[in-house]
Amino acid sequence: MEFRYQGEAFEQKFFARLTSKEIAELPKQNALIILPVGTVEQHGPHLPVFTDSLIAEGILHSACKHLKEDNIWILPPIAYSKSIEHLGYAGTISLSGSTLEAMIKDIAASLKKSGFRKFVLFNSHGGNHDLLNSVARDIRIETGLMTFRLNSYDFNVSEDLIEEKEAAYGIHGGEIETSFILSFKTDWVKKELCPDEFIQFPESAKHLQLKGSHYVAWRMEDISKSGVLGNAKKASKETGEIIANRLGEKLAVVLREMAEFEMDDLINISTEKQYSPLT
Ligand SMILES: [Zn+2]
Repeated sequence: MEFRYQGEAFEQKFFARLTSKEIAELPKQNALIILPVGTVEQHGPHLPVFTDSLIAEGILHSACKHLKEDNIWILPPIAYSKSIEHLGYAGTISLSGSTLEAMIKDIAASLKKSGFRKFVLFNSHGGNHDLLNSVARDIRIETGLMTFRLNSYDFNVSEDLIEEKEAAYGIHGGEIETSFILSFKTDWVKKELCPDEFIQFPESAKHLQLKGSHYVAWRMEDISKSGVLGNAKKASKETGEIIANRLGEKLAVVLREMAEFEMDDLINISTEKQYSPLT
């Protein structure tokens, strides 16, 4: 019989495969619990709507090869998230920001009740970026959990593999995401339908950006005709494998640091008593 959850990540590091007794007995001091957040949203004519969720799972799978002995666990993922910029394209299923926020906060509160101290949001969708930063801080304040947020797309591991234009504007369904899916689920990619589409800001608006400090809020239909930004035609399974391996290695290092990290380490307490404005 075949099941949905397979591979090393789910055989060795899947939180929900443990029994309640096993979870109760896990040492909680350095246990790190990861919540993957993906999407179900259009990714152009060539990629499945499950692309971001597959990417989160694939990268975590790659990281788990390096984390066999660690007290690090992956929760069942949230497959739907905030994809409002893609609403109107068939197959996009979006949660509102408030729904996603409420779900994540409920999960965090439940982990706290189970005795855990450290929680990671592992996000693979740019549209969740700002919301998850805000939710992570709220969780820290409301539950006391040490809360971390990682974006799969923030690790710089592909600069030597892709062109500058792709690095700057290939933000959706382009060479990188298509390469990932070719390496994770080759048959789920329609190679003959791969788009190659980019935008360029006019000379008179050359400081404006789709992400970063000079941000222009956009809907997908504002910035693309195909539903894609990037050159999916250049994607290859090999590129996907290389990036996933590099990401897995880097991610494992960061996750281990999070598992060992203590917030108290940040303040170097001097021998003299410091003034504190906290009541
Ligand atoms: Zn994506």
